[in-house]
Amino acid sequence: MSVRFSTLPSSIEFKRTHLKEMQAAGPTAASTRQPTMLPSGGQRARGGPAQTSGPRLMQAPATCGRSCPFASSSPGYFQTRRKVQAAAFHDPEEEGSMAAPNDAQEARIIVITSGKGGVGKTTTSANLGMSIARLGYKVCLIDADIGLRNLDLLLGLENRILYTAIDILDGECRLDQALIRDKRWKNLSLLSMSRNRQRYNITRAHMVQLCEAIIALGYQFIILDCPAGIDVGFINAISPAKEAVIVTTPEITSIRDADRVAGLLEANGIYNVKLLVNRVRSEMIQKNDMMSVKDVQEMLGIPLLGAIPEDPQVIISTNRGEPLVLQKKMPDSGVALEAAAQRLIGKLDYFVDLNNPHKGLFQKIGEMFN
Ligand code: ADP
Ligand code: MG
Repeated sequence: MSVRFSTLPSSIEFKRTHLKEMQAAGPTAASTRQPTMLPSGGQRARGGPAQTSGPRLMQAPATCGRSCPFASSSPGYFQTRRKVQAAAFHDPEEEGSMAAPNDAQEARIIVITSGKGGVGKTTTSANLGMSIARLGYKVCLIDADIGLRNLDLLLGLENRILYTAIDILDGECRLDQALIRDKRWKNLSLLSMSRNRQRYNITRAHMVQLCEAIIALGYQFIILDCPAGIDVGFINAISPAKEAVIVTTPEITSIRDADRVAGLLEANGIYNVKLLVNRVRSEMIQKNDMMSVKDVQEMLGIPLLGAIPEDPQVIISTNRGEPLVLQKKMPDSGVALEAAAQRLIGKLDYFVDLNNPHKGLFQKIGEMFN
């Protein structure tokens, strides 16, 4: 336990101790988490390679009571669902215009999730997607929230959405018609699952099928902005994903939800998981009023992708529909998100970039680790 731990005010110390005890007792304890829903032989430490090639299991965790999205579905369930028209995924304009098609293994499907709402998933999705697109990759952002979309607003694309994924599944349009290309960076596209307040029984099979079709169009990254919660919307969003970024704030409620989500991801075969700590306030950390990034990372036991400071510019950027990473005078949060994007694609293998113009920010983040 670090020195910082021992100097914490009692309330935070109590909460931390409480969380650790809770974790130790619960089935998703960070230090002892076992992927209990894995097939036998598939148990592994978090972060290591998967030891099973068996199918993902979607079994109900012990605490899941009601009609359960985690229960494995029989094939019949999907067969009775509306079949996605193969023609819907055919895009004559794309044919031949794309680079050599990627096979499914090359493309990366990353879900941005958290459990708790309002911690910064959509902000993260928009900015990571934009950053990776700017680095030259073909990126598709999927707003997986059915009925309450808002990724389009953050990207300033809300007026350009004519069709959604539900229209594709209904056979009303082709995939390319629902993929909205960003005018600033044409290799970034947005697919919204639905219009606001629209209801539709999207299934895991639909999500997988959509992602396969998007990859067939040559996209190298699919970033899924996951809805809050751990119900059916969450399960649908994680179904096609091969990796995940868990967003949390340095608050006990958010950390506990992140821990729960980490357990569910593991139980569903997603082992490549990284942590992004958002809304970090270094002045509060210095006063021991907020957990440090290191504290949060140690509690969750998930490899760190990055830390984003609390920044009023995030609200301005949201209201303007202009992602932080696109701004000429990039705010601190934009620099941190850009760095996280570069780490995600393996272009940055350190946390502190002292050569960066926002040196102060990185020094602050560095201090949080010491
Ligand atoms: P989620 O998708 O997890 O619900 P959002 O990305 O929509 O979260 O963010 C929720 C709210 O928090 C928004 O009002 C957003 O502007 C604000 N926010 C997110 N990250 C930050 C940050 N680093 N600094 C300040 N405000 C933030
Ligand atoms: Mg959101």
